[in-house]
Amino acid sequence: AESWNEVPLAPPDSIFKLTASYKADTFPQKVNLGVGAYRDDDNKPWVLPVVKKATHLLLNDPTLDHEYLPITGLPEFTAGAAKLILGSDSPAIKEGRTVSVQTISGTGANHLGALFLSRFYHFNGPKQIYLSDPTWANHHAIFRNVGIEPHNYAYYDPSTIGLHFSGFLSSLRNAPSRSIFLLHACAHNPTGVDPTPEQWDAIASVILERGHYAFFDCAYQGFASGDLDRDAAAVRSFVEKGVPLLVCQSFAKNAGLYGERVGALHVVAPTKEAADRVRSQLSVLQRSEISNPPSHGARLVSLILNNPELFEDWKQDIRTMAHRIIDMRQKLYDILTKELHTPGSWDHILKQIGMFSFTGINPDQSKALVEKAHVYLTANGRISMAGLNSHNLRYFAESLDKVVR
Ligand code: PLP
Repeated sequence: AESWNEVPLAPPDSIFKLTASYKADTFPQKVNLGVGAYRDDDNKPWVLPVVKKATHLLLNDPTLDHEYLPITGLPEFTAGAAKLILGSDSPAIKEGRTVSVQTISGTGANHLGALFLSRFYHFNGPKQIYLSDPTWANHHAIFRNVGIEPHNYAYYDPSTIGLHFSGFLSSLRNAPSRSIFLLHACAHNPTGVDPTPEQWDAIASVILERGHYAFFDCAYQGFASGDLDRDAAAVRSFVEKGVPLLVCQSFAKNAGLYGERVGALHVVAPTKEAADRVRSQLSVLQRSEISNPPSHGARLVSLILNNPELFEDWKQDIRTMAHRIIDMRQKLYDILTKELHTPGSWDHILKQIGMFSFTGINPDQSKALVEKAHVYLTANGRISMAGLNSHNLRYFAESLDKVVR
């Protein structure tokens, strides 16, 4: 019998390990800042009111069945999702040169996009992609899985706890022409550091000059600023400038549908004819991977995107989440700077955007927070702002103050 002796034991996923340690901790004031999911002010998962409404509509729809969806997904969902990210009046959509495929949330979109490029992208040399340093850890594994080797491009500058803009531009300039660059559309994970609109313009110019390809990952549209259009600005401006690109889209965070796995991959092609060919190949790939995407979450999001009243409700729910997080940033900043007079500058807490914040603390200080204060965060000093609330904010600020003194 196969003993599997050659199978090495893999290390546990670091985030899931952190969550397990948090759960096992009996300290009453423990705080979990590792989690990448929204929590309300009572640290509870939040089912968006608009999702409750949409669920009610779905459950009362007598025509509903459980047939397979088309291979590329629910058409009303993918069409609505494309408009959401590219803009409802997007010329690329009107010209029929976009391809939209429903995927297993953002992870599945990244995978399908990576798989498609590994088969059909005209690589200039070895198959490789440039990822921001740092990035969502899963990006490395997703590209390696399909035989595309990840390389880093300069992104984060620890000395400013901000963007290493000149390094980023040099990476773009020095990469072989026609390289693929993965860009976080907004709310960069893990740093919370995004380029400004002017910086995006400069990035787009170099990408065009060098003939690079932009692989956008958009996991937080609306969640970053509270405004769906504002968070899509970089993607839309790249499309307008004619940068060749694809976009991975997730509804996990902005619709709170984490476990439903709702997402899409959008490829913007130069012509309708090219789009038709790309669509045919994405269908072939999707067929062998999952046959057909799941229907429930896509139906919910389709209702929300295509019903004007629900869409307005959703925008309100998004503002609720984004503004609670922005409010936590302000309050954390105020306690650190005005009350505790914690050493160092904390401006980055306000400047950073989205679910995550890079605090700038070192691995020893992160470790001290976990071990002495029962505040759980990753060793890189990243905190999930969603884990902060009116009940634990002061305790966290005081604990942070202690470890940096
Ligand atoms: N991309 C980034 C940058 C993320 O942070 C995440 C989630 O944490 C995802 C993609 C994909 O998440 P999901 O597969 O749950 O949509």
